[in-house]
Amino acid sequence: METKEIKKFARPQTVAVSSTKYALDSNWRDYKWQLANSIRTIAAFEKLTGITFSQRERKKLEDTMNKFPMSITPYYASLIDKHNYRNDPIFKQSFPNPAELIISKYDMSDPLHEDKDSPVKGITHRYPDRVLFLVSNRCSMYCRHCTRKRKVGDPDYIPSRDHIEAGINYIRDSPQVRDVLLSGGDPFLLPDSYLDWILTELRKIPHVEIIRIGTRTPVVLPYRVTDKLVRMLKKHHPLWLNTHFNHPRELTHSAQEALRKLADAGIPLGNQSVLLAGVNDCPQIIKKLNQKLVQNRVRPYYLFQCDLSEGLTHFRTPVGKGIEIIESLVGHTSGFAVPTYVIDAPGGGGKIPVMPNYIISWSTNKVVLRNYEGVITTYKEPDSYEPVFCDRNCKDCVLQLKLDEAHERPFIGIERLLSDSDGAISLIPQGNSRLKRREKHSAKSPKAKKT
Ligand SMILES: *Cc1c(COP(=O)(O)O)cnc(C)c1O
Ligand code: SF4
Repeated sequence: METKEIKKFARPQTVAVSSTKYALDSNWRDYKWQLANSIRTIAAFEKLTGITFSQRERKKLEDTMNKFPMSITPYYASLIDKHNYRNDPIFKQSFPNPAELIISKYDMSDPLHEDKDSPVKGITHRYPDRVLFLVSNRCSMYCRHCTRKRKVGDPDYIPSRDHIEAGINYIRDSPQVRDVLLSGGDPFLLPDSYLDWILTELRKIPHVEIIRIGTRTPVVLPYRVTDKLVRMLKKHHPLWLNTHFNHPRELTHSAQEALRKLADAGIPLGNQSVLLAGVNDCPQIIKKLNQKLVQNRVRPYYLFQCDLSEGLTHFRTPVGKGIEIIESLVGHTSGFAVPTYVIDAPGGGGKIPVMPNYIISWSTNKVVLRNYEGVITTYKEPDSYEPVFCDRNCKDCVLQLKLDEAHERPFIGIERLLSDSDGAISLIPQGNSRLKRREKHSAKSPKAKKT
């Protein structure tokens, strides 16, 4: 039965699973079996896929794996086209490449400063109203392009129950946090009951309005999305989920089934892709990917420029490639099949959108725009707009902001330059609450902080 299964779910000329003991293993769709049988050695990879490497290649691969270990689920490996594996997007995302050992002088082990913006272990508090909460350091697979390569699989980073409790306490004590993003590693590698506990504790905090989960299991271990897991998740609404498909080939029947279960449970689904040289740096691939995602009720959310983590040199594209791709999407396909292309700012500035320019010029009463076809058009602005003068004195304002629902907070960043509420004319990013949190934190644990 399982052989049939595999034939049905893999592309006809791909696989992998033939002639090995796996093909007959009736546990193929059991995610625990998949994890227990993850491919961690070259020999196991050769055996499962039938691809072989020379002695010389093997030596280089071993060196690479000593620095960045390999782990691939048999499911994901079975999608590799063994006849053209060197160009295969599945192979490139999962199998070590000696080029990972090339460290350029701009590479960093923690380019996003997730550790610096961390008030307690496991929490990154970068934005005013939301936090990233690393609850697991395990992943179903070690993606070769992972931005947290330094952490994944590292036993020093296993979040203990105490760490998780400290994280929950931090969130409880931070009333400005209305959105908690569980990530890792992969939160779905936690046992159902443990994840249930974390979600239950977070749900008890009144100011936590939404919880989001980031998981790659629908892509690399779709069998993890069991009916039991989904029943548990449903108890914790409003829950959002972001996954990480990078190539249309990853949307197999099993992956689609996992997405269907999650969507049927009322969980809004999003996708974060990474732009990867040799994998998906092509407008047609990204368009196809996003259209297929939408077909499966997944809203493309972000397309990430590959960041400056160590070992990713061979995956990076120029920023222009991303702009070109977005150019090929906007107007050409459904608006909600267009993700926002972002660069996660080195040094911890957060995600910065970079999109093509559609405004060509501007006068005091007219904007000149161009559309996706190259049509140049004008938009005449109103002659009679009476701006609302805002000194943040909402009581005297004609607009009806319901104050009991609005949280008073200082204007931050560019928003402040645009407002009339104080005399700021330039911006020197000092003393904002993110930097203050950093100071407070580094005062507490001086040893953790170098540069
Ligand atoms: C990406 C990210 C978030 C969430 O950002 P959104 O733009 O709201 O999706 C929150 N915290 C950190 C540290 C992040 O990297
Ligand atoms: S699933 Fe995510 S965190 Fe895990 S290795 Fe892949 S990219 Fe990194």
